[in-house]
This record gives sequence, structure tokens and C-alpha cells, in this order.
Amino acid sequence: MSFRTRLNLFFVLLVVAPLFAVGVVLLRTIDGAAQGKVESALASQGRAVARVSDIYRDQAAALNGRIARDRELAAALESGSFARVEKRAGQLLSPNTDARRMRITIARTGKVVDVGSPSAVLPQRNDLVGSGSARERLGTIETSVIGPKSLASRLEGLTGRMIQVRSGRTGRVIAGATDGPSELPPQDRVKTVDGGDWTAVMLREAGFGGPQDGVVIFNRGDDSRASTGERIALIGTLVLFLVLAGIGALAVSRSLQRQVGILLEGSKRLGEGDFQHEIPRGNGDDEFALLADGFNAMSRQLRRRLDELEDERARLRSAIRRIGETFAANLDREGLLEIVARAAADGVRADAARARVVVDGREEVAETGGTTRFDALLRRAADRAGEGREVLLSDGSQHALAVVMHAADLVGTVVVARDDVPFTKADAEMVGYLSGQAAVSLENVGRHEEAEREAHTDPLTGLANRRRFDDLLASAVDAAEREGRPLSLLALDLDHFKSVNDQYGHGVGDEVLKATAQALREAVRGGDVAARLGGEEFAVVLPHADVEGARILAERLRIAVGGLVVPAGDGREVRFTTSVGTATVSGPTIDVPRLVASADEALYAAKRGGRNRTVSADDSAQPG
Ligand code: GH3
Ligand code: MG
Ligand code: MG
Repeated sequence: MSFRTRLNLFFVLLVVAPLFAVGVVLLRTIDGAAQGKVESALASQGRAVARVSDIYRDQAAALNGRIARDRELAAALESGSFARVEKRAGQLLSPNTDARRMRITIARTGKVVDVGSPSAVLPQRNDLVGSGSARERLGTIETSVIGPKSLASRLEGLTGRMIQVRSGRTGRVIAGATDGPSELPPQDRVKTVDGGDWTAVMLREAGFGGPQDGVVIFNRGDDSRASTGERIALIGTLVLFLVLAGIGALAVSRSLQRQVGILLEGSKRLGEGDFQHEIPRGNGDDEFALLADGFNAMSRQLRRRLDELEDERARLRSAIRRIGETFAANLDREGLLEIVARAAADGVRADAARARVVVDGREEVAETGGTTRFDALLRRAADRAGEGREVLLSDGSQHALAVVMHAADLVGTVVVARDDVPFTKADAEMVGYLSGQAAVSLENVGRHEEAEREAHTDPLTGLANRRRFDDLLASAVDAAEREGRPLSLLALDLDHFKSVNDQYGHGVGDEVLKATAQALREAVRGGDVAARLGGEEFAVVLPHADVEGARILAERLRIAVGGLVVPAGDGREVRFTTSVGTATVSGPTIDVPRLVASADEALYAAKRGGRNRTVSADDSAQPG
């Protein structure tokens, strides 16, 4: 059921139905009031009619008095002659008197003389007494001064009501309105009869000779109800009320619907993700205003959460970018650790982070933020972190989270710390994921370093290869140029190596090359670099060595190689020698190809000179 339907139903229940009930009750009430008015009017009119009856009886009594003084009638009565009494009575009832009917009872005979209209009503009875001193009773006289028709019309004129005069003997209507109640009300009481068709009051008056005649005053039932005017006024008032209530209800309903509409619109926009929209709350502090406040608070909250998420996303984006850059930059281990620390701190909004890794027994550490403040806690957390298990530690308002980085050849930890806000499981997951990725990257760095090393190393002897030799020579030359110090280069070539291969096989030849390389490694100083240039040719770069120094080292090497003994199977042994050429340069600009060529030339000079000897470039330049 829609809100509007409910409001309408509410209106009908609260306004229309009660108003209808009030209307019915009021109609009944004004009907009752009209009825009451009619009844009380009828009662007072009944009393008026009784007074009028008394007047007619009084008139009849006065008439009786006059007749009683009539001598002729008295004589007739005294004579006891019915004929005389009847004759005199007829004379007395002439048009000159008010009498309508006269009835005389003769005491002596008990006979009754009846003259005049038999239907006359309201008779008055008196005794007739003799004129003598004995005052004997001669009879009685009953006289009426009014007939039923006159009485009915007089009373109608007096009361303005419908009047019926009824016979005391038969009960039939003898004068007055032909239409009237069939049921008669009790004596002197106003009553609604004939099922509400009539309201009537009946007065019983003594009739001639006893039975009472009745006068009925009545009112048609319809007339006892409220007048049409009153009804129209009442119904009009009620309708006016209804219309006013309707207008009021419509206004209230409109305003409610408008407010509900505003809230609906607001919630719809909220549902569509428009958190900027504020629902107008109006000035009041009703439930709608509170609801609008609630909605607005909700959208502000969502907006704030959205901003936070946006923030979070930005931080994640930057962390991802940083990690991406790491892959792209092919960073070394140190750089990578630094990025891991920064990304971990950014990722969980830590105040400090430390990433530590141990490779081949060597420790590397990178830090970000104020690690000194958290140092103790960072260390404790890192110590407790085990493989596959993160550690959440708190110390007062300081909180730390440690996660282990684990890969094939390395083990390390990432620890983050911050004030006030403890780390959550989600933070642990985030740092855990990061350290997992970091471990893989660190491992890749290790592999990369390995590959790099292999690219620069001669696989058979483990010495630097030609590529590495070129690089080292170039940087040694740079240093020599910068520092203005001498630089020497030794070139070595084993003597008659081909015949070693031929005689003992290639494997033994390889062993000879390895033994030579080991002898070179052991003989050179820290800053010197020995390299295998190819085949059975070697070279040594000697930074800082002058001609004499180069010669001394060359001799030492030559003698060391000459003293080597390599087993060749079957108890045989291989002994061999090497020739060495040296070249020395110094000065601000060194010609590298020329230096190499000089050392080569010196070497060939040594070969030419009979092998197993050292020749310096200076010597080789000399003729002979
Ligand atoms: P010389 O005294 O004039 O230097 O004579 P040589 O025999 O040492 O010179 P040559 O350049 O004729 O011979 C070099 C030989 O070194 C040829 C090749 O079979 C051998 N050789 C080159 N590289 C290797 C290697 O890696 N292992 C072995 N076993 N032999 C190699
Ligand atoms: Mg050679
Ligand atoms: Mg050789």
C-alpha cells in the first residue's frame, strides 16, 4: 500500500467516519429536540384546552343557575308532569339561550327529559331545588353550551393543532380532523403513537349521562422532526467541516509526501553513488529533519570512506608503481631492500620500516621513517618472526608488525612500526604479500649477480675472462691517469702447450690451465687482477707497478708456473713453463691498445728468445 493510499485511509478513518457519526448523532439530537418541543407544546396546549373546557362548563353552570330560577319549570317539576317539564325545557332551549342541549331528570318520577342537540359536549350538572323553605330536591339539570364542531374549530383556532372530538360512548370521531391517530394516548399524557406517525395528547371530559368524551390534540409525526432548514444547516456545517478537514488533510498529506519525496530522492541518489548530494532538512526538528540529518551524516561518512579508499588506492598505486620501477630498474639488493621498506611503510601507513636480509652470511639492511624511536620494538618483533608466521607486537602506544622474507638462498625480515594504531590481520597480509614478492625479487637479484659473475668469469679457471679484463684494465688506466701513477701489464703464454695436449690429452691440458690459474691467483697482490684471455694465454693488470715491480712479479709468476707439477695418470707427471711479457705506462693520457700491443710484443720477444723467460717492453724494443 503506497504512502498516499495510507494517508487517504488515515484521513477517512480519522475524519470522515467520525464526522459521519457525529452527523447522524446530531440529526438524531435535533430531531429529538424538535420532538421534545412538540411534546411540551402539546402538553401546555392540553392544559389550555382543559381551561377552555372549564370556561364552557362555567358558562353552562351559570345557565343552569338561571334555568333553576325559572318558576314555570319549577312548577312543572313539582307537578311531576313529564309533559310539562319537557314542554318548558323545549321553551327554555330556544335560540335565545346559549344552551345546545339540556337534560333534566325529574326527581319524583326519575324520568329524563332530553332536548337539544344530542352531540353537544362539555355539560355541567346541577341540582334543581324547590323555592319553599323545605328546599326539596326537584331533580337535576345538565346543560351544554357548545357542540363538538364548534369546540373542535375553536380549539383548532386556539392551539393551531389538529383536534378531534371523540364520543365517550363509541370512541368514534364526532368532530374535527378526519385524519388522525388510530391509537389513542392515555389520559393527559403526550405520547407518540401509531409507530411514530403521530404525537398526541388526549383529555377526557365528562359527557352527558356519564361516559367521558375525548378531545385529542395531535401533531403529525413528520412535523415532529427537525425542519429541512435545520437539517440543511447541520449537514452544511458538517460538509463545511469535512471540506476544511479535507483541505487540511490534503495540505498535511502534500507536505508529508513532499518530505518523503525529498528523502526518497536523496536515498536514490545515495544509492546511485552521489554522496555529494545533501538532503535539505528544513528548519524544523521533526522526525523528517532528523531523518534528513541521518541521511546526510551517512553520505558524509560514505564520502569520507570513499576519500579514504581513494587515498588508499593512490598509496597502493604508488607502491605498485614503485615495485614496477624496481623490476624495470633491475636494482641491486640494497636498492630493492630500500623500496621494500618504503612500500611496506606506505602500504600500511607505518611510521617506520626496516627490511633486513642475510645472503651468503652477509647482512644488508634498509630503513625508512624514524626507526631509532622504534628500534627496540622493531628488533624484538624481527627476532620473534618465524617462517610463514607474522608477529604483531605492541609496547604501550607503539605497535610493530614483522614478517619473514624467505627464498631459496636468502632469509630476511620486513618490520613496520607505528604509533597509536595497532596493526591488523589485513596489514599483516599486505606486508606478507609484499615481502613474498620482495623475496622473489631479492632472489632474482642474487641470480642476476650470479649470471653477471658468470658473464665475467672464465668457467674453466675461475679467473676473469677477456671481457672483464678489458673493463678492469680500462678502469685501472683511468685511475692511473687520474692519480698520475704507473700501471703495468703482464702477458703470459704457456710454452709448447700444444704438445702437452698432444702427449697427455685435452683433459690433462685443462688441468695444466687450472693449475696455472691457481698459481697466478696466489701470486698476485690484492689490487692486482689476473685474467685468462683465451687458450693458454693469461694476463695480469698491476696497478701502481713500475717497470721494476712488473718484472719482479713476472719473474715470480714464471718461476711459480715452472715449479708446477700436474699428474697425468699412470703415475706420469707434467711439468711446463711459461713466457712472460711486461709493459709499463704512466702519464695523464694512456694509449690502452698500445699498452696491450707492447706487452704482446714483449711476450713474443720472450718466445723468440727461447721461452721460459720474462721480457719487458723496454727490452723488447731494443734490437737483438
Ligand atoms: P708456443 O710455445 O709457441 O706458445 O707453442 P704452443 O704449442 O704453446 O703454441 P700454439 O699456439 O701452437 O698452441 C696452443 C695450443 O693450446 C693449441 C690448442 O690445442 C691448445 N689449447 C687452446 N685452448 C685450450 C684449452 O682450453 N684446453 C686445452 N687442453 N688446450 C687448449
Ligand atoms: Mg698461444
Ligand atoms: Mg703457447
